Parts: sequence; C-alpha cells; structure tokens
Amino acid sequence: MTPCLKVYREKIYENARRVLEACSRCSINLTAVTKGASAAPEIVKTLWESGCRSFGDSRLANIKEIKNIFPEAETTLIRPPMASEIPELALYADNVLVSMRECLPLLNGARAKTGKALGIILMVEMGDLRDGIMPDEIEVFADFARSHDNLRLRGVAANFGCFGAILPTKDKLEQLVDIKLKLERMGHEELICSGGASSSLLLLERGEIPRGVNGLRVGEAILTGTDVTRQRDIGWLNRDTMILETEIIEIRRKPSAPLGESGVDAFGNPQFFEDRGERLRGIAAIGRQDVNVSGLSPLLDGIEILGASSDHIVLDLEAVKNELRYGNTLGFTVSYSAMLALFTSKYVKIEFI
Ligand SMILES: *Cc1c(COP(=O)(O)O)cnc(C)c1O
Repeated sequence: MTPCLKVYREKIYENARRVLEACSRCSINLTAVTKGASAAPEIVKTLWESGCRSFGDSRLANIKEIKNIFPEAETTLIRPPMASEIPELALYADNVLVSMRECLPLLNGARAKTGKALGIILMVEMGDLRDGIMPDEIEVFADFARSHDNLRLRGVAANFGCFGAILPTKDKLEQLVDIKLKLERMGHEELICSGGASSSLLLLERGEIPRGVNGLRVGEAILTGTDVTRQRDIGWLNRDTMILETEIIEIRRKPSAPLGESGVDAFGNPQFFEDRGERLRGIAAIGRQDVNVSGLSPLLDGIEILGASSDHIVLDLEAVKNELRYGNTLGFTVSYSAMLALFTSKYVKIEFI
C-alpha cells in the first residue's frame, strides 16, 4: 500500500550509536530528540537499544509515549510548557525547558504529588530569537527557581538554527558555559550546559566545542543523517534511513507551460513555468497535506519535481531513462521537514524494517 514511508531501523540504530560515541568522547551527555518521528514506539525502542537513555520531545503526548514504553528513560520536554498541560506534564516529564517565570509556581504545585523534584532547564536566548530568557535575567530567574521545593535547577540550554537561522559557534557556546559557571558560583550544583542540537555536531567534529558544554539534544542527525542549518549530509552518518514510496496515478505528454489566463494556485501563490515544449509528465499520489514537497529528492535519475497541490505532486519525467507506467512506484529520500510531516499524516503508512 502506498504512500508508504519505509524506515530502516538498523540505519537509525547505527546513527544513534555513532552520535552517542562522538558525544561520549567529549564527555557530552546525549538527549535523543524524537519529535521528528512523532516518538514512534519502534524509533524509541531503536534508540534505546543503541544505548540512549535520555529522550527529548516537544510534545507532551510523545513524552507520555516514551515513559509508557520505558519508565526508566529520562524525559525532557524541550518546548516551554503550555500552562494548560502543566498538571499532566508534571507527572510524566523528568525535566522541562523553561523560559517564563510564570511556569515555575505552576510546575511546583503540579509536582507536589509525586514526591520527586522536577528538573528545570533554563532556555537562554542566544540570538536565534525563538524561545529563551535574556541572558541578563538568568541569575534572578535561577534563584526564583530555587525557591520552589518541588523544582530543581538542572542546567541551561540554548537553541540555534531553529527560527532565526543563527548557527552555533565556539564563541556563543563559550558565552553559554560562562552563564552556567556563574550559576554554579551562586550555589547551583552540577549543572547541565546543553549546547544545541544537530547543528552543533560540526563543532564537535572540529573539536571546537568548549569544555563545559556537557549536553546536546540531537534529533535530525540521528533520524536523517543531515544538518539542515548548514545544508549538509553528515558524512559519518547514514543518510538513507528512510524512503518514501508513492505511485504514479497519471503519466502522459503535456505542454510545459499552462494554457489560459493566469490566476493563483490552490495555495494562493502565482505560478510561472518556462515553456520547454511538450514533455513527459507524471503525477505522484501524495501532496502538500502530507509532506514538505521541497524536502523530497527522487531516487530515479532524471525526475524533476515541478510542484504540488494538496494531494498531487507533478513531475517532469522527460529525462528518465527507464520506461515508467501508470501504477509504478517512485521512491524519494526525505529531508527532516519532509519526515516530520510524513509521520503526522494519517494517509501515509509508516513501515519499519
Ligand atoms: C527540535 C529541537 C532539538 C533537536 O533538533 P535537531 O536539529 O533535530 O537535532 C533540540 N532542542 C530543541 C529545543 C528543539 O526544539
């Protein structure tokens, strides 16, 4: 049945092992981030088998899923919590990334029932301008966290390359380490300094991660072997962890430039196509409601993705050597953002191999 995302567990297992090894060589504790694959149980089990014991996810539903499979796993909610989810979150997560003071009394109250302190990791704004506490507010924030009996300050973290496309650098990570050291001098003990995500692995490769960074939260590199912020495939990881398969539902020769009066497409965008004469074109049965189409790369040489609507991807097949027919299956490698969407589409079968 298609569309189908074939996920090769062995490849992900190898990636996780390699990232774990690279981290442990630098005394870095790895938190495996599962949100890209919706924390699918098969993925969580694969990561566990590879040796991962710490898991991060941005969705409470996924944190619950992980705890249900492996109650001993350490879980961290890596998005600032919604006030409305705090009562439930406090029962399932071991740690939570926090950027708003208002969260702390709520988390403290909700955690009272469990008898075990909830780990608080302060998200520090380092320039990417998504979530994070401004650096000059950190000390007061940390002391406020300390004033709650059911909370324990576990460390500081920063995100890079998520919103503002700001890359992690040695300099930025040194600033984060300085903040951690300052908090330790204030009496906060044995703090984690979580220095970013897959985009920080390049610094690890180059030996440029400052001493004092002792945590990373890595999802993309393990799941797809890529680092999208630097538009690179990570050479020492498997890129072929998953393949999307979808069927050809139309194939015929058509003009390459649309005929008639132009409006905008189904998503409100104007479209322009170069007139290349008549070409062999195909339609694959999957669309923008299932996948980020620009994150797909055809396996077969000669296929060009022309565009997509909600349920169709339109392809130029003129340069394909093989003879293609109605009903044939086409394969695509997927980017992180394509994977993210595919895992949440109810129309896509996920097959673990
Ligand atoms: C998604 C996310 C990560 C993991 O990022 P990757 O690029 O997938 O490694 C880490 N930290 C936070 C806060 C995130 O939201």
